[in-house]
Amino acid sequence: MCVQIEISGNDELLIFDCGTGFRNLGNDLLNSGTVHKGRIFITHPHWDHLQGFPFFKPFYNKDCWFRIYLPPQGEIGCKEILSGHMSNTFFPVSMDMLEADLNCETFQPGKKLFEDYSIEYMWATHTVPTAIYKIKIDDKTIIFSPDNELMRDKGKETTQFQEDFRAFIHGADLLIHDAQFTSEQYATRVGWGHSAWEDVVEIAKEEKVKRLCLIHHDPDNDDDKLAMIENEIMDQADSSFESLNLAKEGQVISLPRIKVNKVIAE
Ligand SMILES: [Zn+2]
Ligand SMILES: [Zn+2]
Repeated sequence: MCVQIEISGNDELLIFDCGTGFRNLGNDLLNSGTVHKGRIFITHPHWDHLQGFPFFKPFYNKDCWFRIYLPPQGEIGCKEILSGHMSNTFFPVSMDMLEADLNCETFQPGKKLFEDYSIEYMWATHTVPTAIYKIKIDDKTIIFSPDNELMRDKGKETTQFQEDFRAFIHGADLLIHDAQFTSEQYATRVGWGHSAWEDVVEIAKEEKVKRLCLIHHDPDNDDDKLAMIENEIMDQADSSFESLNLAKEGQVISLPRIKVNKVIAE
């Protein structure tokens, strides 16, 4: 799981999550030959969102500069989490051996403003504290929510979480959302922290999301199964969305001013 947002006219990299796709992205960046500067926002420290972290080659270049953000995990902050992930038990290279100029910041709730964009988050329904990031670039809004269980309390009317979530995504230009299961699969996986695509499509449609990209496919759903699911989604999709698809490795989604590159592998 790794998504890059490219903003035309801005050389600073903007990256979300560091799963295995993060390694591929690092190699691509290296091949481009330039020195890199960037900000990396991690939603939460589950393996599938951090596995590529130690293998990102620009971290081993002293001319590169990165700022890394992670929401607080209870009392534990960004640096402690990443240092633990890179401790000698798990990997031979520790955080302080990385040569790039790196800084880890625990991202407390609130809005951060950068040159061309702002970023904030709300808490997802997941098994650990997890961000749903909202990025605003000019008049465009992108929501990145790879791990989120929309319907945990389905029996109840509408929960406060669902109301907040709807307000947060309302009218978004692009929503990249967890759709690990089909409704049928979800029935036996309530509480696992993930959503069924049918629920995501319904809510996104009601909240007038313009483009919807479904991500975080179940590892047991192979390409054939995913192709079947995508066909079914297309059958049900009407003209509500400007685009609707399952995320694919290396996929690029372009918005009028900006471009979202996706490098996914889970
Ligand atoms: Zn997770
Ligand atoms: Zn995940």
